[in-house]
Amino acid sequence: MDFQLSAPLVELRDRVAEFVRNEVIPAESQEFTPALVQELRAKARHAGVFGPQLPRELGGLGLGTVGMCVVFEQAGRSFLGPVALHCSAPDEGNMHLLAHHANDAQRKQYLEPLIEGKIRSCFAMTEPAPGAGSDPTMMMTRAERVDGGWEITGRKWFATGADGADFAVAIAVTDPNADRHHRATMFLVPTNTPGYRFVRNVPVMGGHGFGGHGEVDFDHVRVPDSAIVGKAGDGFKLAMIRLGPARLTHCMRWMGVAQRAIEIATSYAKERAAFGKKLAEHQSIQWMIADSEIELHASRLMVLHAAWEHENGSEIRHESSICKVFVAEAVNRIIDRAVQICGALGVSGDTPLDDFYREVRAFRIYDGPSEVHRMVIARNVLKRTS
Ligand SMILES: Cc1cc2nc3c(=O)[nH]c(=O)nc-3n(C[C@H](O)[C@H](O)[C@H](O)COP(=O)(O)OP(=O)(O)OC[C@H]3O[C@@H](n4cnc5c(N)ncnc54)[C@H](O)[C@@H]3O)c2cc1C
Repeated sequence: MDFQLSAPLVELRDRVAEFVRNEVIPAESQEFTPALVQELRAKARHAGVFGPQLPRELGGLGLGTVGMCVVFEQAGRSFLGPVALHCSAPDEGNMHLLAHHANDAQRKQYLEPLIEGKIRSCFAMTEPAPGAGSDPTMMMTRAERVDGGWEITGRKWFATGADGADFAVAIAVTDPNADRHHRATMFLVPTNTPGYRFVRNVPVMGGHGFGGHGEVDFDHVRVPDSAIVGKAGDGFKLAMIRLGPARLTHCMRWMGVAQRAIEIATSYAKERAAFGKKLAEHQSIQWMIADSEIELHASRLMVLHAAWEHENGSEIRHESSICKVFVAEAVNRIIDRAVQICGALGVSGDTPLDDFYREVRAFRIYDGPSEVHRMVIARNVLKRTS
């Protein structure tokens, strides 16, 4: 095993770290507006760190999954970092999906302007109960065959970025009689299509990024056959292809947040005294720091391994589930410990820890709750054991 990163990747990692330190973190105190995003993206282009995951011919850095892992962690040190580098969810996952599975016309219509930052997207799969949630095969949104295309009807929610999105990647059941894995189809739906309605932003803990987490209604939304990604019946398969690497990139970005939380906590522990010595000299504080460091190191190795497998052609379904459970739970604990070490300061708005804390909780739920990934992991293990 060779753990050595190439010299160009080390140089890029350090350049991204410097960019985040000098340009992104100072912008955290500003209001989050489209103008700020454009400004940061222009600076990212200038610094040669824009679009790490995007193909070179489309203006990106063309990194493989391992390179993305290294760079996304640095970008993730600030919630603004992935936005500045144009590698934040959900656009990053949608760009990956379209780059690999859209046809030429779809790439021209959606992918190119998405990459340029001229439009935004959302991914609409989850539905309010009794529809699709942890179990996507419970999907109730239907697309009926009509002359020249399809008519989509149903309700989705928690579509991140839906408020102001220009198109939705939407999954709907097209053949209810097919087996449960081939019933659905993936559609590209411009949000100005008649019948499509943004209902509301669901109020959530945290809530960074563009466009919140939207509830959207499809009321007989007509789309042509050309709106289908791949072919009819491939919806769940494509959703899994989109979500597998997206789980990993979530882990990568969250590792950056965790690293920063550890740094904030250790700085405080080295300055602040209690009971005659610095907090950092108390063993219980040292143990919290050590536990966080151990969990972050394990997270990094796990994600790097899955990234390497992915770069070498594996589907990484099993590995991405393992990473998703471990990293989501580890990062929740790491941020919680950082808050604890910082005491009242940790729950104040004077450090980013309160933002990290509110935002990280949902990571144990989105892209599959821990319980569902554990179920999948266990099934895989049981299958391979005689
Ligand atoms: C911040 C945020 C952003 C999101 N962004 C998007 C998005 O962009 N697009 C999108 O389509 N969706 C999105 N989601 C939705 C997310 O993917 C779902 O919340 C997730 O799939 C779980 O579905 P559910 O919330 O309906 O939970 P439910 O299906 O209602 O499950 C509730 C709980 O039951 C437990 N459970 C479920 N199944 C099992 C099992 N087999 N064994 C044991 N326990 C189980 C779990 O603890 C789970 O948390 C987002 C969610 C959040 C919170």
